[in-house]
Amino acid sequence: SVVVEQLTKDFSGVTVLQNINLNIQEGEFFALLGPSGCGKTTTMRCIAGFEKPTKGVIKIGDKNLNGLAPNERNCGMVFQSYALFPHMNVFDNVAYSLNIKRLKESNIFRKIGVYTRMINSKLAKYPKDIEKKVMDILEYVELTDHAKKLTSALSGGQQQRVALARALVMEPEVLLMDEPLSNLDQKLRHTMRNTIRQIQQDLKITTIFVTHDQEEAMSMADRVAVMKDGEILQIGTPTDLYSNPKSPFIADFVGTSN
Ligand code: ATP
Repeated sequence: SVVVEQLTKDFSGVTVLQNINLNIQEGEFFALLGPSGCGKTTTMRCIAGFEKPTKGVIKIGDKNLNGLAPNERNCGMVFQSYALFPHMNVFDNVAYSLNIKRLKESNIFRKIGVYTRMINSKLAKYPKDIEKKVMDILEYVELTDHAKKLTSALSGGQQQRVALARALVMEPEVLLMDEPLSNLDQKLRHTMRNTIRQIQQDLKITTIFVTHDQEEAMSMADRVAVMKDGEILQIGTPTDLYSNPKSPFIADFVGTSN
């Protein structure tokens, strides 16, 4: 589960998040929905550890995340812009973090010190278990045939599946997705909704999904939090929000009039 208690974030005295409370169940697909600038990305960045909260507590399970670096939080991230390494092939992109983690654990960094050339040569070789893990996940996201291609040679949907594979290969406890579909064309966006939802259900991975698209949130999520101006206005299942909106703003925002 992910618990956010009284999260507040100021940027140079301006409050962009005000007292955010979330209680996301294990295995839940949870959407943060709201108009541009309402604070969705900042909320995610606080959970991922890229921003330090001004106030408040964030927990995964019983573990308080305050003070932990992003790579200590066991969160996988997928961004709108994919954020892949364009000079690496698909396989290397997916293997990268896994391999870094292995090298850190094996103390090889300490042994070889600052000789980056040696680190790079070590990075170029993968042990069998990493190779298998990466190929399994690539098969899962249907990219086996593209493993040796540069990511810059792939379509948007394929690149987003690489990003998804790269996050999932680390077996994160929580998957954070920030507008992962907004760069895709309409048709692909609909296909990818199903792909993401299917993967999330297969793996039963707790997922927080940021979007400004009400239809996307309402069609994909178990529960939706509607945000506006740094605050959460209402949290509920899509049906709750449709049938019992707590304000005209919510009725309008989640309504089919959009
Ligand atoms: P969008 O959908 O447009 O990305 P959002 O809902 O994700 O919007 P945020 O990106 O979280 O919103 O931004 C919330 C507010 O915080 C905005 O007014 C933004 O300008 C401000 N903000 C975000 N990051 C910073 C920063 N590093 N410094 C100052 N202000 C920031």
